[in-house]
Amino acid sequence: MIIGNWKMNTLREEARTLAESLAELPVQPTTRVGVCPPVIWQQTVGEVLKGSPVMVGLQDCVGDPFGAQTGCVNAAMARDAGCQFVVLGHSERRQRFSETTDTLIPALQAVLEAGLFPILCVGETRDDRDQGRAIEVVDAQLAPVLTAGLDLDGLVVAYEPVWAIGTGLSASQSDIDTMHTTIRAILDRDDAVVLYGGSVSPESAPDVFASQAVSGALVGGASLDIEKFAAIVAAWEQR
Ligand code: PEP
Repeated sequence: MIIGNWKMNTLREEARTLAESLAELPVQPTTRVGVCPPVIWQQTVGEVLKGSPVMVGLQDCVGDPFGAQTGCVNAAMARDAGCQFVVLGHSERRQRFSETTDTLIPALQAVLEAGLFPILCVGETRDDRDQGRAIEVVDAQLAPVLTAGLDLDGLVVAYEPVWAIGTGLSASQSDIDTMHTTIRAILDRDDAVVLYGGSVSPESAPDVFASQAVSGALVGGASLDIEKFAAIVAAWEQR
């Protein structure tokens, strides 16, 4: 699975053009490719990608039902708009909006109940890793999910070391392999899908995908450049 996260980028015509190129992307039937445009362009992008193999999702949603929540969208809206998945707990949201896995549980539940799949982001800061606490931190981020009594069929986890996001830095091959193997053990599911995210590029992708414990990538910056994104999809298919 290769997912592009456009974050707060693109004006409408750029989003449409990028989506038109994505619709032409050659994708093998066993590869799942998706994109999360800014929520305001979701409809535009969704219309272009309708009938193509590329899925559309949201970058975030809240767990609340309909009501007085200025500026928010919920999972029912995501499904009604044709989304197939929602990213939850991205570190940029954890940092800026004080989200924690505990506060994300209702959103996780709502996304699962809406029949969409959540991509739950976890990952340590540079400090955590320097202090040898990377696994402990990721374990603590996942623990509330596992004890919340949710039906986790379809859950996708994205391991995204915070210090590697948008910095051009990447975790080492062995750290990626260790963390992904650990996350799989924590989830204790044979079918667990665990993506890696953190400055994935056409250059770094072959190394990232070398680990059997990696199920694909969550791609930020490089997903805004169709040639780079296509090269990452190709690297996945050639691994
Ligand atoms: C991300 O936004 O999840 C991400 C990994 O970004 P980038 O690829 O730009 O580091």
